Formats: sequence, structure tokens, C-alpha cells
Amino acid sequence: MQSFRFSAVEKAYAKEPVLVEPPAKATSAYYGCNVFNRTNMRKYLSEDTRRVIYESIEKGVTLDTSVAEHVAEGMKRWAMDLGATHYTHWFQPLTGGTAEKHDSFAEPRGQGESLERFSGKLLCQQEPDASSFPSGGLRNTFEARGYTAWDPSSPAFVIGDTLCIPTVFVSYTGEALDYKTPLLRSESVVTKAASDILKYFSEGNEVVHSYLGWEQEYFLVDRDLYGQRPDLVLTERTLIGHDSARSQQLDDHYFATIPPRVMEFMKDLEFECYKLGIPVKTRHNEVAPNQFELAPVYEEANLAIDHNLLLMSLMKNVAERHGFEVLLHEKPFAGVNGSGKHCNWSLGTASGIGLMSPGKTDAENLRFFCFMANVIKAVYDNNALLKASVMSASNAHRLGASEAPPAIISIFLGQQVTDAFNALLKSKDMVKLSGKKSRGLGLPQLPELLVDNTDRNRTSPFAFTGNRFEFRAVGSSANCSGPLTVINTIVAWQLHKFKEAVDARIKAGTLPMQAVLAETRETYRAAMPVCFDGNGYSEAWKGEAAKRGLDCETSVPVVYDAYTSKHTVDIYRDTGVMTAVELESRKEVFWETYCKKVAIEGRVLSDLTTNHVIPVAIRYQNMLLENVRNLKEIYGAEKDFKKLSASQIDLIRCIADDIAAAESQVDKLDALDVKLTAQPASRKSAVDYHDKMIPMLEEIRKHVDSLEMMIDDQMWPLPKYRELLFIH
Ligand code: ADP
Ligand code: MG
Repeated sequence: MQSFRFSAVEKAYAKEPVLVEPPAKATSAYYGCNVFNRTNMRKYLSEDTRRVIYESIEKGVTLDTSVAEHVAEGMKRWAMDLGATHYTHWFQPLTGGTAEKHDSFAEPRGQGESLERFSGKLLCQQEPDASSFPSGGLRNTFEARGYTAWDPSSPAFVIGDTLCIPTVFVSYTGEALDYKTPLLRSESVVTKAASDILKYFSEGNEVVHSYLGWEQEYFLVDRDLYGQRPDLVLTERTLIGHDSARSQQLDDHYFATIPPRVMEFMKDLEFECYKLGIPVKTRHNEVAPNQFELAPVYEEANLAIDHNLLLMSLMKNVAERHGFEVLLHEKPFAGVNGSGKHCNWSLGTASGIGLMSPGKTDAENLRFFCFMANVIKAVYDNNALLKASVMSASNAHRLGASEAPPAIISIFLGQQVTDAFNALLKSKDMVKLSGKKSRGLGLPQLPELLVDNTDRNRTSPFAFTGNRFEFRAVGSSANCSGPLTVINTIVAWQLHKFKEAVDARIKAGTLPMQAVLAETRETYRAAMPVCFDGNGYSEAWKGEAAKRGLDCETSVPVVYDAYTSKHTVDIYRDTGVMTAVELESRKEVFWETYCKKVAIEGRVLSDLTTNHVIPVAIRYQNMLLENVRNLKEIYGAEKDFKKLSASQIDLIRCIADDIAAAESQVDKLDALDVKLTAQPASRKSAVDYHDKMIPMLEEIRKHVDSLEMMIDDQMWPLPKYRELLFIH
């Protein structure tokens, strides 16, 4: 009899690529066709309306009701011309992912007639029934209702028959219930703080923005096999599974030829992305088998994040058409590389000046040193908070394993920048300066080749890569708003402090450029302990990092404490990005999510072990026992009977040991589950889940994986690693 598992494997191997019809036109002909961008606005909005809306987008000015009415009307006509019948406010609750509730444009007018309507009010604000989104007690404290409000800086788009309007999600009294609200606040404070600093260097009124280029890693597995793994379906990761004999040790997957079935999926996905104006650019195989990466051209952070969230849901839909399932979990397979979402972050001006790029003149180089030193200092002072912003039940499996950045936040600068900073610290004899002229500052020279700096250190969680910082600790399933809000906020606060110090020096008679230079030196000197170019995976670094005062905590629920440390609360209050109450509520939500995720894993593993693995193990054990009994019947009287049956008796004993151990651990796990479920989700229960339940999951897995290696392959009920990971 052929097993259920084998027929799924057979089906998976037999699949042909689903060929995608190549689009008839060049990409530029359909790029952004489903986005209410400037080209489409020109066709549907009057010049006056457009002027107001552009200003609102650029300066964050609120639209008045009559303009909103015109925009809504134009947007509706455009969407209906694309076949839309519904609209939705699209927002980013703290559960992760995005949320939407669709309403029809149709409004009955009596006598069996109806009319399509979409008002300015509906565009600007809505009150979704949001009571089941997590709020960390905020809605109880303030007001039960939450509402969504339009974010005009991210354009509306059409997917299928629905017009989607990017929105923030806040409580009735204005507290953030989502990821986007604090991000937009952090963007506005970093814009102000960085633009102020820029005034030391240039006369103009340049506006600074934060930019983000994410690199999305993911796994693909065949849908038929996925469907046979309850752990993948319910938790997005394999809770059991022995290593495949061949895994990534040959290093033959990274940048290798993309398999045809996957290639068709990628082409299809890119086509969908382009229609929505997502500027995807790079695609390649990643390190692990069946692991891939997709990266766009960087954009303003808010837009880049909306695009990433859209991409994650597009991926799921497109993968289905190709018989794949996308795994965005940070560690779907033990022993195989996990997936991250490197966040390439920089500050720059709308006119194209990169503030993390060295320049040609002394003034440009001082600007570079100045912004670099401030970012380094901000990361140093807030390394625990930065770690909290990327920590989750799933990413914890990746951080700290020796393949991803460690759970200690340090900065890699590379030899050239480190040398340049050291020279800066030593150079004393400054030439006299006047006003903003900066020639003859005596700054160390920076080679221009930094932009394509290949001096890479893959073990660093926060690495300088020539014109940006690459925050590699971010997990593949994350909403990048969490970490980006922290970076923007801490950098804004640091820049503000820096400006105060520089202004004090100037007031005391120092020339402006000299003041900036002196303060840059001090800032870098104070932050040097966070810079580390060595091997971040090494044991020695852990001890060294602790000595340098970096946060080395690895327990997720404890790491979250950083959200409400006095330092964090002060920074967030001073910048206005979040109140203490908002921070507290966020932390509550994260603890609760952590508890729920681990609890689900516990239940799934208990079920898998009890109902899938142990019955099969017992069946096989009985076959062996039967065989020994038969041997005894035939050879029992002979001298070498013992020798004949020894290995099987050993095997039976090993199986029995693993069964007994797994069963008793599962009993303990179930009891713990009952106990923890009875108590409300809190820091304490999150710590219990971390300290007590996770070790049990690991222990049970050890016994189950050992059984997998002993039991007849024909009988094993679940697709194995080698089958899940090598299907194209
Ligand atoms: P790698 O794999 O070498 O790190 P990728 O090309 O995969 O590089 O991704 C780099 C990402 O960084 C891209 O999204 C790119 O647009 C982005 N990027 C490049 N320059 C900047 C910058 N100044 N600020 C932010 N992101 C940037
Ligand atoms: Mg990268």
C-alpha cells in the first residue's frame, strides 16, 4: 500500500512549471497602472485639486473637506474604470500583516435603483469594527472605538475589484493602534532634526527623508507537501523533522540558476508588483535549498513599507497559482539558514543628497562624519531598544543561531571608515575657518570607492555598506515599521542633542564648522564601544560585548522591557513619537502575541507527537517484536540466537525509550499549557512560555527526530526535510 505521504511527494515531483504569458508590452507601459499615481491623477483630478493634494503629500498638510470630496470622486471614477466595485481602508494592526474590510460603492436609492457613491468623508476616515484587534488595553483605557484615517503620502491602489486606501489606525483619542502611525511621526521628527543639522552645511532649505530598501527572503514549498504538515500549516515552521543528509553544506544554492517552476512564479510575481508600482529589481537564490530573495529599489520609508506589506500578500496569492506555498517565517526549518528582511536605511534629501555618503569636498565629508557619528551614537545608546524592535517568537530562532546576526546589536563600519574616524580623532591642527566655508578643515580623505564597498561582514547586525546602514537583524515576516520607527526616533533625538551641543559651542565663540567637527569627534568617541568589525558569531564576542555595556539578553519577553525603560520613554516623549501609555500598550501586545504563538506551537507539537508519530512508532515497534518472536521460534534453540536478534532488540529498546520520553514530555507540556492558558497573558506568562515551554518543545523534538531516523520510511506519516526542501 502506498502511503499518503508518498503520493503527495510523487505529485509534487511531477509538477511542471505553470507558464506565465509574457506581458505584451515593455514594463514601463503597465508599471503603476493600478496605482492612483500622478499620471492617473492627471486624468481624473482637476489641476487645482492636484495642486492641493501634491502639497498635502509633500508637506503633510491636512486636506480640507471640499478637496477631499473632489479627490474621492476622481479616485472612485478611476477605480471603477479598472473594474473596482468595492473600497477598503487598508491598515497595519499590531498583529502583523494588513487588515481590510470591503464596502461596496453601490448605494440603494429606493425603487430598486442604486448609485455608486464614495464621499470625501469615506475616503478620509472610517470606523472599522476594530474591537478584536490587539490594543494592549488602550481602547479600554480611553474609548472603545478605533478609527482609520487616510495617509495621502502613500497612493491608493486597486487589487482585483477593490480600491485600497492606505490608512493609519488610531484610538478615538488619538493613540496609535498600528505600525504606521508611529512610523509617520518618527519620519516627521527625523526630517526636522536632520534638516536642521543640514543647515550647518548648506544655505538651502533641503528637506531630509528616511529611505528604506528591504531585501525579502523567503522559502517556497510545494503546496501538496505543505498541506501534509500540520505544523507548517498552523505555525509556519516545522516543529519536528530530521536533517536532510544533504542540506546547504555544498553551498550550491546561493546565486545558482533559478529552477524553472520557481522562475515562472517570480516572473508572475514581478508582473503583479509592477502593476502596483512596487519597484522590484533583484531576484536570486539564497543560501538554503528552496530559499530565495527579492529586493526592490529603495524608496521613502513609508512607501517602501507599504510596498513590502503588499508584496507579502501578493506572494501568497501568486504562489498558490504555481502550486507553491510561501514561508515567511524566520526559521521554517531547523539546521537550515533562516530568513531575514535586511532593512537598508539611510537619510537623504529629496534632491538626491545621501547623508550617509562620503563626498568630494571637506564640507561634504564633514557632513558624512557628522551624520555617521550621530547614527552610531544613537545605536549605541539604544541597542537594547533596537533589539526589542526586531524580536519575536519566530525571529528568536534565527537571531543567535550561527547564520544570522547575533542577539547583540553592534555596528560594522569596515576598515576604511574606521581608519578615517581614527584619523579624525587624532587630527588636531585645524586650519582657521570662516563662516560656512570649510576648505582646509584638515579632514582625513575618504576614498570615493566606498559606495561599492565590498568589504562585507555578514555577521554584523547593523552594517555600514557604503551609503547606508543595513539592519540585518530584522525578520522576514516583520513589518519594517517597528525597527524603522525606532531608528528614525533615536537618530532624531540624538541629532537634536547634537545640535544643542554644537550651538552651545558656537555661542561660546567657536566657528560653526569647527564646532560641528569638535562635537562629531566627541560623539564618535563616546559611541566607539558599539563598533565591532570582528566575527559576531564567536563566543568571545559575547563576553566582550557584555564588557562594552551592550545588551546581551536573549529571552524575547525580557528583551521587550526596553520599550519602557526610562531612557526610551524620555526619548519618545521628547520627540512626540509615542507616549508612555502607547509604549506600554505596545509591549503588552507583544507579550500577548508571544504567549499565543508559543502556546499554539505547544498544542500542535503535542497533537503531532501523540496522534501522528507515536502510533506509527508503536506499529513499527510491534513489527520488530513480531520479527524477534519469529526468529526465536525458528532459531531460539541455536547458540547464536542472541547475536542474531541483538541489534533488533536494541532498536526496539531505543524506540521504546524515545516513545516513553516523548510521551512523558507531552504530558508535562499539556499540563503546562493548561496552567498557562488559565493565567492572563502578561510578562510573567510570556517568561514562563519562554523559560519552560520552549525547552519542552526542543526536548520532545529530539525524541521525535530520533524516531524518524529509526522507523521504516514507508510508514513515516509526514513529508521529510529532504522532500520539502528539494522540490522545484
Ligand atoms: P545586497 O544583497 O548586496 O545587500 P541588494 O541589491 O540585494 O544588496 O539590496 C540592497 C538594497 O539596498 C536595495 O533595496 C537597494 O535599493 C537599497 N539601497 C541602495 N542604496 C540605498 C540607500 N542610500 N538608502 C537605502 N537603501 C538603499
Ligand atoms: Mg543584503
